[in-house]
Amino acid sequence: MYSIWNEKCPICHEGNAFLTPAKYDLKNFHKMPVRCSHCNHKFEIEGGFWQGAMYVSYGLTVAISITTFILTYLIYPDTDAWYHIIIISIVSLLFAPINYRWSRMIWMNMFSSFNPQKTH
Ligand SMILES: [Zn+2]
Repeated sequence: MYSIWNEKCPICHEGNAFLTPAKYDLKNFHKMPVRCSHCNHKFEIEGGFWQGAMYVSYGLTVAISITTFILTYLIYPDTDAWYHIIIISIVSLLFAPINYRWSRMIWMNMFSSFNPQKTH
């Protein structure tokens, strides 16, 4: 959880997983270093590794959409379905950079675990 929340290397929890901490820097938010600057762990373990993060991204998008629908429904219960679709689309779009980064962090942490010996 520490690695995912702070976007740090899953092995050492020291090196940054993204080049910029700014999630809404639309030109650079997706850029990652090839290797961890602290422990030299290769983030993309194998070719096509990040394709699996799309499944995580899908799950996050569903969670965001359901949450948005419930909140909108609680605030405006008589809203037409099209408004729900438009609001969910806008919220999903606003969360896209965060979703992108979190899905990669969650996916990366599923295959790499913390090694306290690499923190020094
Ligand atoms: Zn590292």
